[in-house]
Amino acid sequence: MTQSPRITLIGGGLVGALLAQQLAQRGFAVEVFEKRPDPRLAGFLGGRSINLALAERGLQALRSAGLADDVLQRAVMMRGRMVHDRDGHSALQRYGVDDSEVIWSVSRGALNMLLLDAAEAAGVTFHFGQSLVAVDFERQRIRLADAAGVEREQTVGLLIGADGAGSALRAAMNAHAPLGERIEALGHGYKELEIPPADELAATLQQLGGGRDQYALEPHALHIWPRGGYMCIALPNTEGSFTVTLFLPAQGAAPSFASLPGSTAAAAFFSEQFPGLLSLIPRFAEDFDHNPVGTLSTLYLDRWHLDGRALLVGDAAHAIVPFHGQGMNCGFEDTVVLANLLAAAPGDSAEVFAEFQRVRQPNADAIAAMALENYVEMRDSVADPHYLAKRELGAL
Ligand code: FAD
Repeated sequence: MTQSPRITLIGGGLVGALLAQQLAQRGFAVEVFEKRPDPRLAGFLGGRSINLALAERGLQALRSAGLADDVLQRAVMMRGRMVHDRDGHSALQRYGVDDSEVIWSVSRGALNMLLLDAAEAAGVTFHFGQSLVAVDFERQRIRLADAAGVEREQTVGLLIGADGAGSALRAAMNAHAPLGERIEALGHGYKELEIPPADELAATLQQLGGGRDQYALEPHALHIWPRGGYMCIALPNTEGSFTVTLFLPAQGAAPSFASLPGSTAAAAFFSEQFPGLLSLIPRFAEDFDHNPVGTLSTLYLDRWHLDGRALLVGDAAHAIVPFHGQGMNCGFEDTVVLANLLAAAPGDSAEVFAEFQRVRQPNADAIAAMALENYVEMRDSVADPHYLAKRELGAL
C-alpha cells in the first residue's frame, strides 16, 4: 500500500481551510501555516470583502465536505438582483422561477471560522501568525516569519499554496522556474460602506416609507445601483445590516476614486448619483474616509505546479474580478477535485498536480472571462429596458 505524503498548506483562508478539512477527511496528515492570528481568538482581521455570495458550485463542495447545512444556517438567501434606478424605483430580476435557484450571502469571517473549526475537528494542525517568506525546493524547507519578524525554518511535505492573490508560494515557485504569470489590472477599485440594521435608521425609513423587519431594504436580494461606467451593490448580513460596495474607475476624470479624495466630495457625488442609498448610510463620512480602496485584477498562469513538489489552488492560482461572485466558489470546487485526485493516487503527486491543472484550468479561465463580462452587465445592461425585455423572454 502507498504511504500518504504529509501535506503542508500555506494559507488558512477560505480555500485553505476547506482543502485542509477535505484532505484530513481522506486520511492525510495536514499542517497549515497562516499569516494572520487565529480569528477565533483575535477577531477576524478582514482582508477582502466583508460578505460574499455563495452559489451552487461552492455549495456543492460544502455538501461534499458535510458542511453545507451549517453554512446555510448562517447565510441570507438572495432570490435575484434588485435593480435601483436614479429616480428611486427598484425592480427584482429573479435568478430562477422559484427558490430552488438562489444564491446566499455569507460573512467571510464567520465562514472562515466555521471552516477552521471543521478542519481542526478533522485532525488538521494550524500554525497561526506564521508567514511564508522563502522556499528551498531542493531541501524541502520553508522559511516562516512571525508577527514580530522572527524567522525560523521548517521541513515540509507536499507544498500547497492557498495563500491568495498575492501568494508568496507562487512568487517562490516563479523565481525557481517561471510559471508564465500574467496579471491584468481592471483599472477599477472598490470601497465598502455599511447600511446598518433598520432600528438604527427608524426616522429615515419612516420618511422613505421603506424597511423590511430588521432590514432597511429587501433582505432576500442582491441590490444593484447601475450607473453605466460604475455601480454600487449591497449584500445582506444576518444581523440586519448590508455591506455596500462602490465600484469605480481608480484613476482618471470624474467620477473616479482619484476624483473623490475624501468623504465631502464623495457625499456630493452620492447625493447626485445614489440619493436614496446615501440616506441609508449614516456613517458615510467615517466609512468612506476610513475604508481603503481595494484593487481588482485577473491572474493568469501557464503552470500551477512545480512538478510533484508544489501546487497552487484558489486565488493563488486563478484570482479573478468579483463580478460573477465566483472566486471563492471556484476555489471551493478546486478543493474537492484535488482531494479526490490525491486520495486516488497519493504516491504520484506529479501526475495528480498535472491532472488537477488539466481539469480545473479551463473552468477557471471560463469563469475569469464571465466575471469580466458581468461587470459591464451589472453596471450597465441590467438598467437597459431592452435587456429587461429580452430577459423576460428568457433570452438572457
Ligand atoms: P484568500 O481568501 O485571499 O486567503 C488567503 C489566505 O492566505 C489568507 O488567510 C492570508 O492571510 C493567507 N496568507 C497570505 N499570504 C500568506 C503567507 N505569506 N503565508 C501564510 N499565509 C498567507 N468570491 C465569491 O465566490 N463570491 C463573492 O461574492 C465574492 N465577492 C468578492 C468581493 C470582493 C470585493 C473581492 C475582492 C473578492 C470577492 N470574491 C468573491 C473572491 C473571493 O474573495 C476569493 O476568491 C477567495 O477569498 C479566495 O480564497 P483563498 O483562500 O484562495 O484566498
